[in-house]
Amino acid sequence: MVEPKVTLYSYLNRPVLDRVFFVPFWDCPYQCEFCCVDSLPGKPAGWPDSGEDLLFELLETMSRRYGRRMQLHFYGGEPMLRAGYVEHIARRVRDSPYVSKLVLYTTLRSKSPRQVLEILGSKRLEILVNPDTVNERVLAALQELKGVARLNLLPLTITTGRGAEHEPGYKQDFFQRYMPVGWPGRNCFAKVTGMLVNGPQRTVHTCCMPQSPIVGTFDSSAADIVAQYEAALATVPQALNASCRSSGGAHPCGVCDKFSGYQSQAGPGQNSYTVAEALALA
Ligand code: SF4
Ligand code: SF4
Repeated sequence: MVEPKVTLYSYLNRPVLDRVFFVPFWDCPYQCEFCCVDSLPGKPAGWPDSGEDLLFELLETMSRRYGRRMQLHFYGGEPMLRAGYVEHIARRVRDSPYVSKLVLYTTLRSKSPRQVLEILGSKRLEILVNPDTVNERVLAALQELKGVARLNLLPLTITTGRGAEHEPGYKQDFFQRYMPVGWPGRNCFAKVTGMLVNGPQRTVHTCCMPQSPIVGTFDSSAADIVAQYEAALATVPQALNASCRSSGGAHPCGVCDKFSGYQSQAGPGQNSYTVAEALALA
């Protein structure tokens, strides 16, 4: 389920500004049909962790600017393919005065995150589990991690990656069938996600998805990225909603998917979709 705060801010059209997403690699042993980043099995997790220092600089910059501790959302791919790296990040979260908690997106089918829980404790760790890869062993693990882990049940369809609307078998969800573009559930939700630090491509994005417009690179300063991010939140959602409306698309994320041409297994420089380009689509 979507958090009550996110739902409320979505209806109020206000930015939440309390979280940053981080992905150090996209590799995953599964191949969910809806995978919004088109993660693929087969390769060991091997991308460089080049975004880590920038990530913590952004968390500090935003925490000081907004007067609150920030959440770090860690996803992939399957982060627990490299459990040791997740544990390393957990130790940095534990020791940081700027980060409230780690939110880990996992299938619970790779290594158990019990060690991560030992590092952070149940107050500073939340585990969101993909409902599509659940089996009996995962149900038992969910029970064991009760109070910390829960199924990540999203009411809406994300129309990017393998879930893109041009993919065979695509089905419109409730919002796409019955709600106008621009309403919660069928809008650009960048204001209520968080920016993404995308390690493999060395880019920082307007929302949690790597298909979204780029607000900086790993060569930018954290202060510049935050300034670009705030400017993007004030302009990009409206432009992408308008573009979706005029093109008759199912969801604005489909606009980003199409214009970024994003492929999660590509290296740096593959995606150059900018905020200026997104604004020009309106
Ligand atoms: S949705 Fe998650 S578990 Fe499924 S293929 Fe994508 S990254 Fe892997
Ligand atoms: S429309 Fe683009 S920027 Fe908005 S939430 Fe979707 S992917 Fe992100």
